Amino acid sequence: MSTRATAKKPAKAAADRHRTPAGPGQPRPSRHFAVVGAGIAGVACARTLVQAGHKVTLFERNDAAGGRMASVDTAFGRFDSGAQYFTVRDPRFALALENAPGVCKRWSANLVRVLDAHGRVAEAALPSLEPHWVAQPGMDSLVARWAAPLGNSLVTGTRVTNIEPDALDAKRWQLRTAGADDSQHVYSGFDAVLLAVPPAGARALLGEGKLSATLARKIEPVRIAPCWTLMIAFPQANQPNMSHLGPQWNAARSTHHRVAWLARESSKPGREPVERWTLQASATWSQEHLRDAPSRVEAKLLRAFAEITGIHATPAHAQAICWNEAQTQVPVGTTHLWDAKARIGIAGDWCTGHRVEDAFLSGLSLALDVI
Ligand SMILES: Cc1cc2nc3c(=O)[nH]c(=O)nc-3n(C[C@H](O)[C@H](O)[C@H](O)COP(=O)(O)OP(=O)(O)OC[C@H]3O[C@@H](n4cnc5c(N)ncnc54)[C@H](O)[C@@H]3O)c2cc1C
Repeated sequence: MSTRATAKKPAKAAADRHRTPAGPGQPRPSRHFAVVGAGIAGVACARTLVQAGHKVTLFERNDAAGGRMASVDTAFGRFDSGAQYFTVRDPRFALALENAPGVCKRWSANLVRVLDAHGRVAEAALPSLEPHWVAQPGMDSLVARWAAPLGNSLVTGTRVTNIEPDALDAKRWQLRTAGADDSQHVYSGFDAVLLAVPPAGARALLGEGKLSATLARKIEPVRIAPCWTLMIAFPQANQPNMSHLGPQWNAARSTHHRVAWLARESSKPGREPVERWTLQASATWSQEHLRDAPSRVEAKLLRAFAEITGIHATPAHAQAICWNEAQTQVPVGTTHLWDAKARIGIAGDWCTGHRVEDAFLSGLSLALDVI
């Protein structure tokens, strides 16, 4: 690099050095990536980039990594408030799980289908085609384990609010962020920005297409349904000679008009024994009741729970939460998106599906593409 070049602004000179093209056989220079969103997709993406020798700053608006692989602690034990379990179909996901020994356990979900026809409830065992896996002690534990080696590269409690050209080097990006206390910061010097957030957030951060019209066009058709979730605990069921209340199954897919899924949390490995259930409302019902108060949703879902399970006892704990973006209905159709010209990428389960494994593979493939 000439003396004249180094006499430029120090930041510009550093940027030039950074971009020196690698010669044949030489390792490619390390780049600095901003990854937004520390769900399983963002963490898989960030880990892969770091392993390839790149610098990563991973931004997460919540206090911890996990995203929709979420667990809620209560006085009666933990609930998986988002993903209930996962399945493993791809060898790359299987290999990654092998590298986190002891975190995941097989769950004997004893899954049934509950049919609500003419007011009568019938049960039909669903053939268990593939094992159900859960992380322990909660579903968030897997992402937490994978995020641990990232150390200070994971910046939690920090919501990315804007992506804009770097004030010192227009060929790079800088990110504006807001903390929980509304404190604002600017992080600069990123060679690329990788969004691993649900679609509404990705659309907003793309400035409705101003940063990449290509990406905005590709994610426009994506649709993702909300999900009201109810978590209830019955400590009274754990009396001597009473192993649990109600049905013999631990999980059910339901055709009840309000409820799509029920799971006995206490049947999952590594959980507290207090009888606890999680219910997920159907996508249609969740959409219709999106604006309802949690107390109203709680009452309606409790009634549905009693109809399906025959448990009419009053729970000692009940909490309803709403996921505004829960399950993909129309995906992008490719594992990830990468606009090399804009230097912006997108990953998340919603690229191909609605499962934990889809999210992992999406984050992994985006990282491999940009490397
Ligand atoms: C109720 C429910 C039940 C489910 N059940 C199952 C199941 O049984 N099996 C299964 O395989 N899958 C299930 N899923 C789906 C599974 O949870 C997802 O596929 C997976 O967790 C998605 O991971 P992700 O990394 O793509 O996105 P997310 O987990 O949504 O991660 C995105 C992250 O980005 C963060 N973020 C968003 N905006 C910003 C911002 N501006 N700045 C900083 N951070 C930001 C969020 O806080 C979040 O941590 C379920 C999901 C829900 C909601």
